[in-house]
Amino acid sequence: MKYTTRLYVGFSLIIMVIAVLVGFIVGIIHSQNQELNELYEDRYLKIQLLNHIRVGIKNVDNDLKDTIDHNNAPSKDMNVQSIREGLEEINDDLHTLDAIIKVKKAKDKLNILHGQIEEYEKLINEILTIVDGGNTEKAASVYETDIKRDNQIINTTESMISIQERIMEDTLKSTKVSNDFYVKFTVVSIIITLLIGFWVSRWVIRSITNRFQNIRDVMKSIQYGSENLPRLRDLSNDEIGEIAQAYNEMATALEAHERMERQYTEEVEEQNWLSMRLAELSMLSQEIFDINNLDEKYFQAVIPMVDACYGALYIIKNDRSRPYLLKVCSYTDDVFAKPSLIVELEEGMVGQCARDGRLRRIKSVQSLPNTFFSHMGESVPNEILIFPILLDGEVVGVLELATKREFPQLHEKLLIEAMNQLGVTIDRIMQQMQVRKLLEESQALNEELRMQSEEMQFQQEQLRKMNEQLETQYKHSEQKTKDLEVTKLELEERTKQLQLTSKYKTEFLANISHELRTPLNSLLILAQIFLENKENNLTEKQKEYANTIHAAGKDLLNLINDILDLAKIESGKIDIKRNEMEIGDLVSFITNQFEPLANRKNLEFIVEVASNIPGFVYTDTQKVYQILKNLLSNAIKFTVKGKVRVFVKRTMHLQGEYIAFVVADTGIGISKENQELIFEAFQQVDGTTSRQYGGTGLGLSISKELAGLLSGFITVESTEGKGSTFTFYLPVNFEAEVVHSYPNVELDTFDLQHQVVEEPRLGANIVQDHELTGKHVLIVDDDMRNVFSLTTVLEAIGMKVSFAENGLEGIQILENNRDIDIILMDIMMAEMDGYETMREIRKSEKLKHIPIIAVTAKAMSEDRNKCIEAGASDYMTKPVNLEQLILLMKVWLCQLDNESIGK
Ligand code: ADP
Repeated sequence: MKYTTRLYVGFSLIIMVIAVLVGFIVGIIHSQNQELNELYEDRYLKIQLLNHIRVGIKNVDNDLKDTIDHNNAPSKDMNVQSIREGLEEINDDLHTLDAIIKVKKAKDKLNILHGQIEEYEKLINEILTIVDGGNTEKAASVYETDIKRDNQIINTTESMISIQERIMEDTLKSTKVSNDFYVKFTVVSIIITLLIGFWVSRWVIRSITNRFQNIRDVMKSIQYGSENLPRLRDLSNDEIGEIAQAYNEMATALEAHERMERQYTEEVEEQNWLSMRLAELSMLSQEIFDINNLDEKYFQAVIPMVDACYGALYIIKNDRSRPYLLKVCSYTDDVFAKPSLIVELEEGMVGQCARDGRLRRIKSVQSLPNTFFSHMGESVPNEILIFPILLDGEVVGVLELATKREFPQLHEKLLIEAMNQLGVTIDRIMQQMQVRKLLEESQALNEELRMQSEEMQFQQEQLRKMNEQLETQYKHSEQKTKDLEVTKLELEERTKQLQLTSKYKTEFLANISHELRTPLNSLLILAQIFLENKENNLTEKQKEYANTIHAAGKDLLNLINDILDLAKIESGKIDIKRNEMEIGDLVSFITNQFEPLANRKNLEFIVEVASNIPGFVYTDTQKVYQILKNLLSNAIKFTVKGKVRVFVKRTMHLQGEYIAFVVADTGIGISKENQELIFEAFQQVDGTTSRQYGGTGLGLSISKELAGLLSGFITVESTEGKGSTFTFYLPVNFEAEVVHSYPNVELDTFDLQHQVVEEPRLGANIVQDHELTGKHVLIVDDDMRNVFSLTTVLEAIGMKVSFAENGLEGIQILENNRDIDIILMDIMMAEMDGYETMREIRKSEKLKHIPIIAVTAKAMSEDRNKCIEAGASDYMTKPVNLEQLILLMKVWLCQLDNESIGK
């Protein structure tokens, strides 16, 4: 219940009690008043009337006496009148009394009095009658005798007065008693009312005071600036409850205000701290003019500011092909060191930060493996921060910091701001350093210029002198020009002679190679058959000899081929036939051909192609293959352990775009002075007879020439003992040129030679071939050794062999033997050469379907065309590679079979 209500109720109650009391008292006073009035009006009136009667009686007596005494006097009528009036008055009084007296005793007395007065009246009337008769004496005597009656009336009156007086006294007495009681009652009631009022007030005041004291205590306990103010719990539904509620709300508001004020103060303090540190660092950075001073002037100030246990500062350098990070200062365990460490942009968190410019935070570092922070010295940090140092959004450096605790946000803020500042500083320092360097350079240049201008003055003087001399010389030179013209003509003549000589040389080489190859062919085939050792009657020693013969023959053959190739190139007889060279084919060729060789030497063999390489290139595929084969066989030959790597990439070089074929090995390498020599003919690093590696010393010369023909070139980089990298640059050419294509199977002399070298025991496999078994072959050749060796091999695989010494004989045999399936035709024959014979055969209806494989020692491309024109189905060079020959025969015989099946 609210206090207002309570107070209203309390005080209304008191007022009500007082009102009842007052009403009660007023009632009592009123009744007493009435009683007193009655007393006064009733008793007093009665007494008065009685006294009036008594006085009236006396007056009547006196008048009567007068009348009696003074009978003849004029006043007699007046007296009688007065007596009559007096009696009337007495009777009136009696009547009044009769009306107001109620008490029986008093009524009885009044009746007595009434009777007495009636008698008295009669007496008076008698007397007066007597008097009127003139008998005065008699009247006097009657009066004298009956006067006593007069006394009786007085007595009765008086007794009645005394009765009334007694009643009055009694009434007064009783009034006084009740009056006393009412006074006492009133006093007691007032006291009780006052007590109740007092108690109610006390109860109300007490409870208000207690609660207010409670509020005061809580308010007193408020501490200035506290964010946790005490709350009032007295939240009853009354005015004090409302005050408490209001107080609580005020406390909440105060707390919020206090909190805001504290936060604001903290922010201001932090901002001050930040501004001061930044200003300090800014001042420091102003004093730095050299990147090497960053350490003592700046770095040593930052470390203690953020309480770091490790720190390193890197800046990005661009003085190499790729940008990298240079560590310019570092700090570990109270030691400031200035190590120059290079970190690549891919390396670790620092490198990553430099690349993407994002801050990195590594927490709880202790949980990471030890190696992670080994570079941080003995201190084991708890948190690592890596900041990019930015300038206009670009990373110019990286700051790495570690702490044993945790970096508070404020320190992080400071560092971020400081790093922005530092970016500008580094840029400024770099620019200043650059300017200083330029200034120094320009000073040096100035000095040089000055010296040069002096020198030029001197030279001018000399020039002037020389001019004079020149004028004299000019006269002589005219004469010399004439002489030179003569010399030029002579030289032209010589060139013609040289070209002729070169032609003779080439032709000589071609002829000699034919002459050399033919016997060599027999030698190789026979040596091969020897090695097969079919009869199993050779000793180990003999087999070894046969092997040596075979190997020596191969070397000789290689040399001859190389010489021939070089001669052809030098005399310009090599044609370039451009076609689409598929890079994919090239890669699989390289892998298939050289991976087994490398594996045999336990070398790792890697072939990689860059993604931007086109699918094909227009070039002479054969030549490219030849060059790469040479580079790769060298790489494998001169590498004992490690790896050989081929990398095909696209690159810009001097005049344009090239495809670079990089062949790198980890072999013996080539010394600087030998690097130029090796491209010359017959040049080998180790040319002694005791040398470790075989070879002719012609491979690179041929490759270099071939590369030149393809508008490319070859470079070499090598370190002795570490390895060599040969790079063949082939120009990227997308224009399609005339593509020569041949309907027959193309053979590559180089390829075949290498295969024979690598597979000396190839003949052993030939025996197992039975696709050719039973087929009839005609060999037309005038060299019996050749015929002999071929016959031996072909019979060994189950073929039926016929032979003719020249073309004429060959045609005769063909006409007599209708079962001949295929012809092997030598070209250079004494009587009727290969060309003519083939033309004859093609003319004959019966024979023209027989496939002819022309076999010649001439490897020139025009020889090949000549053969095809004359009617050859296919073409092979001597010495004959057996596997290739068998393959060719199979191709042509199967083709034939299929055709006949078709028919
Ligand atoms: P060869 O037939 O002797 O290998 P080359 O002309 O191909 O003839 O090479 C000439 C010489 O260059 C070699 O004898 C060898 O001394 C050196 N050479 C070539 N390639 C390499 C290589 N990859 N590593 C070391 N030396 C090499």
